[in-house]
Amino acid sequence: MPVEKRNPIPVSEAIHRVVSQDIKTEGTHMNIYESEGYILSEDIEATYDIPRFNKSPYDGFAIRSEDSQGASGDNRIAFKVIDHIGAGTVSQKTLGENEAVRIMTGAEIPKGADAVVMLEQTTETDEGFTLRKSFKHLENIALKGEETTTGDIVLKKGQYINAGAVAVLATFGYVDVPVYRKPSVAIIATGSELLDIDAPLEPGKIRNSNGPMIHALCRKEGLEATVYKIQKDDFESSLNVVKQALSEHDIVVTTGGVSVGDFDYLPDIYREIDAEVLFNKVAMRPGSVTTVAVHGNQYLFGLSGNPSACYSGFELFLKPALYHMMGAEKFYPAMVRATLMEDFKKPNPFTRFIRANVKMTGREMTVSPSGFNKSGAVVSIAHSNGMIVLPSGTRGFEKGHQVDVILTASDAFQEELYL
Ligand code: AMP
Ligand code: MG
Repeated sequence: MPVEKRNPIPVSEAIHRVVSQDIKTEGTHMNIYESEGYILSEDIEATYDIPRFNKSPYDGFAIRSEDSQGASGDNRIAFKVIDHIGAGTVSQKTLGENEAVRIMTGAEIPKGADAVVMLEQTTETDEGFTLRKSFKHLENIALKGEETTTGDIVLKKGQYINAGAVAVLATFGYVDVPVYRKPSVAIIATGSELLDIDAPLEPGKIRNSNGPMIHALCRKEGLEATVYKIQKDDFESSLNVVKQALSEHDIVVTTGGVSVGDFDYLPDIYREIDAEVLFNKVAMRPGSVTTVAVHGNQYLFGLSGNPSACYSGFELFLKPALYHMMGAEKFYPAMVRATLMEDFKKPNPFTRFIRANVKMTGREMTVSPSGFNKSGAVVSIAHSNGMIVLPSGTRGFEKGHQVDVILTASDAFQEELYL
């Protein structure tokens, strides 16, 4: 069979093709305790003001500010305490002249009061306390609606639900949160050289590290992922497993078998199932043979078998597709600019992605390759929290140059504290 001619497309074009598919998951509801990491499927409106009432930000005394005018060290003004309230209770009293209510953090300001005196600013007396300074109208009061007023959109449809969003949802009484369903993922490692993790090593064979790695990447996004049996480089059986995976999952990820070698059967499989191939060659290193296809409402990601390429393929294509499917308003990789800490003189005929460690050094964002970095490398992936992006057609990067970096970390920690 003649070797198929493939035209590489730019990475950005490839990503755009992936996210311009009209493939979306439907809306559903998740219990609030399970909702973190989902995408909201409706705007969330404030159904009341936050704070709901004027409240005290401190433990102290609610007073009428007018009564404190003229107070000084030489002219202490005395207040009589007429009530004592904790958070969650409301005083039934209305303050009169030189009266005060002992109040705790979070408690509603009683009627008549318009300022809060912190406990530390008072000197106790038999009937109450004295003050040595005057207070302004509304001093030390958390005002009703100062954060949010009724009708404000506090969370937007398409927003990623983080812990803060969970707090907002709880504030407005959502037990069941409207979200988009997460797609399920089938993972199929292909290659006659592959062994299961627990199999003894044999000559010419390697263990399947991509399957577990993709599974871990899916887990990180909270996705349900099923790892299928390793597939030998055999057209018939691989085709059957891909068909089975398509009948059971929204996304099918294969690794390996997308090149133009004699035993690379994925292209034939896409043809056989009538999948629409969005691209099968990307101007990037590693992973130029990465293939993405769609089959009805489903995506097929044909990632390269090379571990680094496989990893980059997930970050560059699968993640944006995933969040786009889930209706997220943001789905492109987060990027920063950092100072390169090592020379990288090699030319970059295609856009190059280098697994890297990005961190704050001194007061500067810096980045270094995270180890041996050929496309087959595994260990450097483990030590990376980002990927350096060197544009195609460039060469001769040196220590000190500024480079773009895609952030991939789930462990956003570093060795030193810069606070
Ligand atoms: P392929 O994409 O099938 O041409 O494979 C490219 C390289 O990645 C070869 O050296 C394979 O042995 C290796 N490889 C393929 N699949 C895996 C896998 N699941 N885990 C680790 N290495 C793999
Ligand atoms: Mg192979």
